[in-house]
Amino acid sequence: LRCHDKMGIPICGACRRPIEERVVTALGKNWHVEHFVCAKCEKPFLGHRHYEKKGLAYCEIHYHQLFGNLCFVCN
Ligand SMILES: [Zn+2]
Ligand SMILES: [Zn+2]
Ligand SMILES: [Zn+2]
Repeated sequence: LRCHDKMGIPICGACRRPIEERVVTALGKNWHVEHFVCAKCEKPFLGHRHYEKKGLAYCEIHYHQLFGNLCFVCN
């Protein structure tokens, strides 16, 4: 018998609770919109663009601060 709770309902990579509303898929995991945050300032992206580096997500400001030489927006 399969548990239907574990089938098809995404689990948030931050709080480990099921996501019943909007799901953010990033870094190979699912996240609540408000739990998918910048690894540096911990602000949620809320649908704004994020930047991934070494398995972590960053907001534009901190991605540029930390990896500015690798910017693919303005090259
Ligand atoms: Zn969550
Ligand atoms: Zn940030
Ligand atoms: Zn840039």
